[in-house]
Parts: sequence; structure tokens; C-alpha cells
Amino acid sequence: MNLILLGPPGAGKGTQARKLQDERGLIQLSTGDMLRAAVKSGSEIGKRAKAVMDAGKLVSDDIMIAMIEERIGQPDCKNGFILDGFPRTEAQAEALDAMLARKGLKLDHVIEMAIDEKALTERIVGRYRSEEHTSELQSL
Ligand code: AMP
Repeated sequence: MNLILLGPPGAGKGTQARKLQDERGLIQLSTGDMLRAAVKSGSEIGKRAKAVMDAGKLVSDDIMIAMIEERIGQPDCKNGFILDGFPRTEAQAEALDAMLARKGLKLDHVIEMAIDEKALTERIVGRYRSEEHTSELQSL
């Protein structure tokens, strides 16, 4: 089964994707996580992505499309995958359609996670505070 999870940061996409991963063996493909790992590893893509991410902009469609195409071709995705954070532009959506058709794959569901705005704000603020706290602890 191949899925797309849509929703703002804090909506619970990561939590639901982990459940689907544990219960159904689907692979969570979060492009944000993949980019953060690339930045951490110091790879060429990571170096190019870092400045763009720091500026709060979108990484180029070419990079994102190549990254997802390479990833969904790997054997662990045979059982199905959950896209989280991709596609984010019309060009990415069109490229996804084309790559799925080339690979003989299809999307089974697109799930939009809606969340009350107040709860979302509380979660994001909580997440931000705990990140601040973590970095304070790491610098000790
Ligand atoms: P996220 O964790 O999904 O919010 O992603 C963190 C950052 O990674 C975003 O602010 C973008 O700079 C970049 N990013 C993640 N996914 C994409 C995508 N599909 N297209 C372009 N940039 C992306």
C-alpha cells in the first residue's frame, strides 16, 4: 500500500506514519528527515540543501524528485511507503505521477490530517520549547 500523508507540522503525521510502519510494514519517507540526515552527513546534497532550509525556502524540485525516486526504488519499499512532506509543489506531484507509472506503482490513499488550530499552536510551541531545552542541555 502506498500513501501520502498531508498536514501541517504538528498535525501528527510522524506519529501516524510510525504506527503504519510498525503495524503494516510500510516505510515512512519524510523528505524533511531525509534532508536533515543529508545535512548531518555533510553530503553534497546536504550542503546545497542547508542554506535553503535555513532560509525557510523549498529545496529545488530536481533534488527532491531524484531523492524520492531513488528511495522508492529500494527493496525495503516493496511492501509500500508513506510519503510525508512530498510532493510539495505541482512539479513534484507531476513527477511523482510519472515515476509511479514508470515503476508500475500506484497511490492507494492520500490522507489529509486536519487539526484544531489552537491545539496545533500549543504543540508547535511545546516542540519549540523542548528543542530549545535540548540544545541548552547539549551545550552544557
Ligand atoms: P519538513 O520537516 O517536512 O517541514 O521539511 C523541512 C524543510 O525541508 C522544509 O522547510 C524545506 O526547506 C525542505 N523540504 C522538505 N520536503 C521538501 C520538498 N518536498 N520540497 C522542497 N523542500 C522540502
